[in-house]
Amino acid sequence: MIAAVHAVVGASIGKFAGDSKSAVMGGVASHLLMDLLPHRDFDAKTEALLLAPTMGMIAWKFGLTSPEFVGAFGAISPDLENAASRVGIIPQEAMRFPTHLGEDKHGPKTESALPQGILAAVCVAFLLWPRK
Ligand SMILES: [Zn+2]
Repeated sequence: MIAAVHAVVGASIGKFAGDSKSAVMGGVASHLLMDLLPHRDFDAKTEALLLAPTMGMIAWKFGLTSPEFVGAFGAISPDLENAASRVGIIPQEAMRFPTHLGEDKHGPKTESALPQGILAAVCVAFLLWPRK
């Protein structure tokens, strides 16, 4: 799953949960579930170019200690091992997150990123929806 989509889903979970502990656990759990869905990943440079402004916007809008930011960080944190492997810091065999192991690394693939775009748009709308 595209890392920026992981981030907005994690931020949404954080908003829904309302506390940082639930947000980080929900974010990590969402990473597992989202990697299991058929999806498309981009190359590392594109992923970074999408993720950096997404995390920046979440931090700017909600704050670095908000459940939204903590949930987003929890959701992208499993991919830190993926990034470390891609740049050669750790060997691929050293990865531990369940959906990063085995033959079908990072789950089933699709050609289209449209479903992820729709999911991201729904999450952004939820994030921008005012709290009561
Ligand atoms: Zn992953």
